[in-house]
Amino acid sequence: MLLDERGVSTLSNLPTADFTFDPYQPGACVAGLRPYRTKSYRLDGEELGDKLVVHNYGHGGGGITLSWGCAAKVRDMVLRHRIQNETTEREVAVLGAGVMGLTAATLLLDLGLDVTIYFDRKPVETTSYKAGGQWAVSLLEYSKDFAKVQELQYILRTAYTMFKASIGKGFGVSEVDNYSVNATSGIEVVHDLVPGLLPQREYLKRLPFEGHDTSGYRYRTLLVEPPIFIPRLERDLKARGVTFVNRRFINSADVLTSLTQKTIINCTGLGAKDLWNDSDMLPLRGQLAMLRPQPNLEYLYGQNGYLFPRNDHVIIGGTVEETCDETFDPERCRELVEYMAGAFGQRPPVPMPEFHIHHPRNERLVDPRLSISL
Ligand SMILES: Cc1cc2nc3c(=O)[nH]c(=O)nc-3n(C[C@H](O)[C@H](O)[C@H](O)COP(=O)(O)OP(=O)(O)OC[C@H]3O[C@@H](n4cnc5c(N)ncnc54)[C@H](O)[C@@H]3O)c2cc1C
Repeated sequence: MLLDERGVSTLSNLPTADFTFDPYQPGACVAGLRPYRTKSYRLDGEELGDKLVVHNYGHGGGGITLSWGCAAKVRDMVLRHRIQNETTEREVAVLGAGVMGLTAATLLLDLGLDVTIYFDRKPVETTSYKAGGQWAVSLLEYSKDFAKVQELQYILRTAYTMFKASIGKGFGVSEVDNYSVNATSGIEVVHDLVPGLLPQREYLKRLPFEGHDTSGYRYRTLLVEPPIFIPRLERDLKARGVTFVNRRFINSADVLTSLTQKTIINCTGLGAKDLWNDSDMLPLRGQLAMLRPQPNLEYLYGQNGYLFPRNDHVIIGGTVEETCDETFDPERCRELVEYMAGAFGQRPPVPMPEFHIHHPRNERLVDPRLSISL
């Protein structure tokens, strides 16, 4: 990077978004519930009678990011169980058609298994389809137990490598700069856990944007666009013979008695709260404002909230609210846009709406140093 004699970036400003936004236009606002699990995401197997159930849910604000890595762990667990039990049956049931179910199904097919996906919501209606799509580990609890940390390192390495290998192949994945005012903990955690996986962050004495005279950081990470990625996974699975069955399960007994498959992969996200009676699951709502697509914007930006330019929209988000109400509030989305426009000097500065939430045990869940939460 070019610096002047004071060490200040000589980069000229990058383009500013057009913040024109009418929250009452159809499709202008979106809300989704992150499947947050208070102790840690769940990735383990249990034998129930003659069935193996592998759980893969509770990935909070990082499910897209971790998906391929968790899918690889699911595949390995199923393979090990098959070898140990000398199983020849090929039928597998995957519960859930979000990113966790679709990626797990993809890698199980590679074992030569016959996969059926059961879902209550089809892929384009899932939380996964609504996600922003930055490759970062946000709003995710994980166990600090040594073996679990090693597992997460494997997941991150595998997921990043697979996403990176799919750039330019129609999966909606690209490598992007992310500028942020404060250190972005969702990316910092990757640097801490797997040093060298992502390019090093760069400290900038001034962020190269209109309205900014503050220092910040430039990260290099991936953007995974769910409106491209999720339908692509679904198409590929169907082309490889996977059947999708619309079926809502009421509880674990319903799953175990009604399915004939002896291997069941539980990727039901927030649904696992009721389905598997998991009281550690907590819905964290995120609201997004969807602005018109702006191909001249080629960077992600974060300052409490975030701005992600994608092919379908420029999205502005970052709110975190503990509620099971999945509806959006147009006025809240308008505030999000006003806030972001203020950060770029396009409007008078206003505070970020409803960013911080509190854990039921009254601990602050969102680190106050966070610049981005997803
Ligand atoms: C606003 C927002 C922004 C986000 N941004 C990012 C981001 O930038 N990066 C990132 O990595 N992550 C992000 N996330 C998080 C990410 O979306 C989730 O972690 C991820 O989508 C979880 O995937 P999943 O497959 O577990 O769940 P889901 O996508 O919710 O899929 C669950 C599936 O299980 C099915 N199911 C549930 N219960 C039942 C039942 N009883 N019977 C039958 N089927 C059932 C559902 O119908 C659905 O098909 C964001 C989330 C939100 C809300």
